[in-house]
Amino acid sequence: MNLQCRIDLASKYKAGPQIARVLSEDWCSRELYCPACDSDRLTGSKPNNPAVDFQCAKCQQPFQLKSLRNWNPRKVVDAGYEAMLRAIRADRTPHLLLLQYSSTWLIQNLLLVPRMLFSKSIIEKRNPLGPDARRAGWIGCNILVGEIPPTGKS
Ligand SMILES: [Zn+2]
Repeated sequence: MNLQCRIDLASKYKAGPQIARVLSEDWCSRELYCPACDSDRLTGSKPNNPAVDFQCAKCQQPFQLKSLRNWNPRKVVDAGYEAMLRAIRADRTPHLLLLQYSSTWLIQNLLLVPRMLFSKSIIEKRNPLGPDARRAGWIGCNILVGEIPPTGKS
């Protein structure tokens, strides 16, 4: 497995988060295989579901990718709290891929959280955004990765 991201892809972009997204998605589409079946690759998903970044063309399992420079083994910040609870109730949460990269764009860590392990107990409600925020009152959530039993992580 080649752990180096293709830095040349970043030249078209200026914003840090966008560069991280482009490089890590490119790396995953080249190097990852499906953990749910014997397919040897994951493909970028259709843009109609913002929570899903990759899908297995063979078994159709959905994956969400989060790439981080700094690794917090206890929790990762996710999107809207209510949207997450709705997804859990409807059994629509994708598998979560947590990927950590270094300052030189080497992949350092990759953690899979299987979708069946998502439950309300690992979702932490964050404080609402303050009145000065563009989305004042909006409530995000953290995924408490540290609460997931070790056997569920691979
Ligand atoms: Zn598959």
